[in-house]
Amino acid sequence: MALTGIQILKMLPKTNCGDCGIPTCLAFGMKVAAGQISIEACPHVSEEAKATIGEASAPPIRTIKFGGPESEIALGGETCLYRHEKRFEHPTGIGVLVATDMAADEIDGRIQRFNSLRYERVGVMLQADIIAVKDASGDEAAFVALVEKVLDGAKDAKLALMSGSAATLAAGAKACGERKPLLYGATADNAEEMAKVAQDTGCPLAVIGKNLDDAIAVSEQLQKAGCKDLVIDTGARTVRAAFEDNVVARRAAIAKKFKPLGFPTITFPCEMTDDPLLEAMVASVLIAKYAGIVILSDLQGDTLFPLLLERLNIYTDPQRPMVVEEDIYPINGPAEDSPVVITCNFSLTYFIVSGEIEGSKVPTWLLIKDTEGLSVLTAWAAGKFGADLIAQFMKKSGIEDKVKHRELIIPGYLATIKGELEEELPDWTITIGPREAGHLPSFLKEWQPAA
Ligand code: SF4
Repeated sequence: MALTGIQILKMLPKTNCGDCGIPTCLAFGMKVAAGQISIEACPHVSEEAKATIGEASAPPIRTIKFGGPESEIALGGETCLYRHEKRFEHPTGIGVLVATDMAADEIDGRIQRFNSLRYERVGVMLQADIIAVKDASGDEAAFVALVEKVLDGAKDAKLALMSGSAATLAAGAKACGERKPLLYGATADNAEEMAKVAQDTGCPLAVIGKNLDDAIAVSEQLQKAGCKDLVIDTGARTVRAAFEDNVVARRAAIAKKFKPLGFPTITFPCEMTDDPLLEAMVASVLIAKYAGIVILSDLQGDTLFPLLLERLNIYTDPQRPMVVEEDIYPINGPAEDSPVVITCNFSLTYFIVSGEIEGSKVPTWLLIKDTEGLSVLTAWAAGKFGADLIAQFMKKSGIEDKVKHRELIIPGYLATIKGELEEELPDWTITIGPREAGHLPSFLKEWQPAA
């Protein structure tokens, strides 16, 4: 059971030395209890207390990582059933399947689409993460050759290696070197051999169950054999069964602290239907309901993009607004006579405003003021986008060295602060811009600096 801050405090040295970066042991204990800092950050705590606190404060669904050293994926680490209770920690890994019995051009096409289907939204790069390499013919040499091809062709892909042979998986993992793959996987029949390969290679291992009960039995078997990093396939190959198993596994792990299911799951929409649209819908259901990984038969922009957006929405922390950095953003190559526009640092506002300016083709300086992720009116109402703060930002931003005019365009919704801002910035003329970003292009095209 999770420990409270006070229970953790009892095991700390209580010297308030501050070496952990937190002024007091009580505040540190509270942060450990809230999962905001690791107990390891206190250099003076005993090993015994570390083990007790570490075990008690570990998330009920273990965090599993693979890939690396440059590009790693983390799965699991979840602590709640519903996002509004706190947040979901690690987004579902989206993967595509390649197999040794596929034609070379089909494999090349999937690798090429893995590399090219990437989209930037609100400053976040959206893309698939995993390539699952399947040994479909029992030929170790062909499997290793395919693994090498994927490693070479998709430099940032995280690999899931799929074979029923422990020796083949060991050879594939060896070819991966430092890019540790997920090994898929262990059944009741080969659990011992697979556990040994996972331990020798330091890779996480997938449990393959015939059903949920079988997956629990294999998971217990592997944990007894010393495997700590597991991913669970309950064997479900219909959307209903996979949905039910994911919900039961998540509930058992979070609400009952049931350790055999305290791992992320791997699901295979690619094996549930031959219809690509139906497959995307199945993946969408499983992303929404707890899948750690979904493996697709192929990647196509028209189905991948909505899945990536769905994942972004679900895994965005609802308690933390998305922000961009406070700065001056030059758009369309502005010069010293270009307009200066200011707005807040809420990501959505930034991307809408910058998109409209970019589309207008008018060279513009866009000033982004830190409003802690609040939108224009909310920030103004909260006292984070007032005339005094805008003036302070203008003075320290360096914009006065970039333009020879002194005219600032503020959002239309801030019209009421015009007078106040002119008092704070006596050298500047304040112009009220449009209320809606969509009207910016025509506004900017007509803008001329005051004589
Ligand atoms: S480093 Fe340890 S002993 Fe020092 S204040 Fe932090 S928790 Fe307390």
